[in-house]
Amino acid sequence: MTEPVVPFWIAGSPESSADLIEVRSPYDGRLVATTSQATPSQVDRAVQAAADVAAEAASLPASVRAAALDHISKRLAERGEEVARLISAENGKPIMWARAELGRAVSTFRWAAEEARRFSGDLQRLDTDPAAKGRLALVRRFPKGPVLGITPFNFPLNLVAHKVAPAIAVGAPIVIKPAPATPLSALLLGSLIAETELPVGMFSVVPVPNAVAPDLVADPRLPVVSFTGSGPVGAQIRAAVPHKHVTLELGGNAAAVICEDYADLDWAAARVALFSNYQAGQSCIAVQRVIVHSSKVDDFLDKLVNAVGGLVVGDPSADATQVGPLINEAAAERVESWVAEAVEAGAKVLVGGVRDGASYAPTVIVDAPADAKVCAEEVFGPVLVVQVVDSDEEAFAAVNRSAFGLQAGVFTTSIQTAFSAHATLQVGGVIIGDVPSFRADQMPYGGQKGSGTGREGVASAMQDYTDPRVLVLTNL
Ligand code: NAD
Repeated sequence: MTEPVVPFWIAGSPESSADLIEVRSPYDGRLVATTSQATPSQVDRAVQAAADVAAEAASLPASVRAAALDHISKRLAERGEEVARLISAENGKPIMWARAELGRAVSTFRWAAEEARRFSGDLQRLDTDPAAKGRLALVRRFPKGPVLGITPFNFPLNLVAHKVAPAIAVGAPIVIKPAPATPLSALLLGSLIAETELPVGMFSVVPVPNAVAPDLVADPRLPVVSFTGSGPVGAQIRAAVPHKHVTLELGGNAAAVICEDYADLDWAAARVALFSNYQAGQSCIAVQRVIVHSSKVDDFLDKLVNAVGGLVVGDPSADATQVGPLINEAAAERVESWVAEAVEAGAKVLVGGVRDGASYAPTVIVDAPADAKVCAEEVFGPVLVVQVVDSDEEAFAAVNRSAFGLQAGVFTTSIQTAFSAHATLQVGGVIIGDVPSFRADQMPYGGQKGSGTGREGVASAMQDYTDPRVLVLTNL
């Protein structure tokens, strides 16, 4: 018996087309499911429906928006293991990380429901100036209009949730274009949104080829573009629609700093080992660089190499697996070539450095020149480079010597060093006492420099999708 084709979502209804795509596991190539790509006329209907419903969506009561968000959160939790298995199968990420992603999405929708309930406005007195005697302002935020959300492959559910939940919370329609390699989690989310009382048209998921994406970006009916993905595509989008409101959540080569004062090297080594390799390093805040004070380096490296060597690598569906394959063999080959380039330039591989199909062994490198790709660019693979410094100031300067600036981790117990890191590091977030890979929905999340512009996190994205509008009352 052939499996049914997984539908995509056009204005709240399931549809499909004759343009079939097979989604296969990056680990063993098995068929996970077949879906199809939206045709130009289906995409057009999705976008038109979003435009048509925008005014109705903006005036939805908070109770309706919050109830829809609570429903999605509850249903994701109820179907938890099934959803986690789907994420793991289509992306190749170990089931432990897929379960963590599912947990985050449950919490994103729950948090967005709370934010929707308290999304009100400001009352401002204007009579601080004698000329404005008797005047008062009410400031409320209104959606800018329908949102286009474009998402990458590495968190196929969570990064969609980070765009959809705030859109529903403010009453903005949203059209999601998921990553071609991993559309299934977004399609499953569509089925849960279709169960809610939200007006049809508020939500569409349109799997389309990359070649079609620029047309969606340029479509004037979608005034807000929220993009998460690679720097080069982000730059193309920015250049293509300079007049639109564009949020870019791009890549990074995040650093962890082991400061001079830090004593718990077991904890630091275990965390750096795990979070340079979680999701095979395919996270924008995976640790790519660890910058270690010279007084700690021998001890730290012993512990680090041990911890990296002890990671459980293999079948993503097994409970114990910590590191699975990359998204495809070409990605693993690219990582292999970048490590070879560094070795050619004098770097040494302390552990790892071996490819098997789409899998690349957890790898630690020392003595790589600063301009080697493994240091200067985003590896997006399970590769960690170690740099040695003689002071915390030198370490912070090394963190900043990057084209990116998303988050940094600083292992210190000194309050002065923590504040100095916060003031000095050119990043969107500094994590004290842990790796840079921590994120929670309350936090504004985003980057500086090549890591993008704008912030996500539920409340920040709600600001992003809306404009303030002032109502001035006179003669009060
Ligand atoms: P990608 O840029 O190749 O693709 C991202 C999305 O853009 C996909 O849906 C893709 O189909 C679409 N796309 C491709 N070409 C396009 C075009 N010309 N116009 C519009 N859309 C287009 O990225 P990827 O390989 O899927 O994901 C990895 C990247 O995402 C990494 O750089 C990673 O750091 C970044 N990322 C950033 C964050 C963050 O929050 N800052 C989070 C996760 C991933």
